[in-house]
Amino acid sequence: MAHVHKLYEYDYSTGTIKLKNKKCPRCGSIMAYHKKPVPRWHCGACGYTEFLETRK
Ligand SMILES: [Zn+2]
Repeated sequence: MAHVHKLYEYDYSTGTIKLKNKKCPRCGSIMAYHKKPVPRWHCGACGYTEFLETRK
C-alpha cells in the first residue's frame, strides 16, 4: 500500500489523486481517483464514474 504512490499524482488542493495509466473506457482521457465521499474513478472529460469495491 505504501509503494503505490509513485503511480499517482496527488492534488492537495482538491484532494484528488490522478493515476497516470488509468484511462476512461468511454473517451480515453486520464481519469482521476477520488477518495471522498466514496472511492471512485472519475473522468473529468465525459463524466464517466467507476466506483470501487470497498471491503473492510
Ligand atoms: Zn471519459
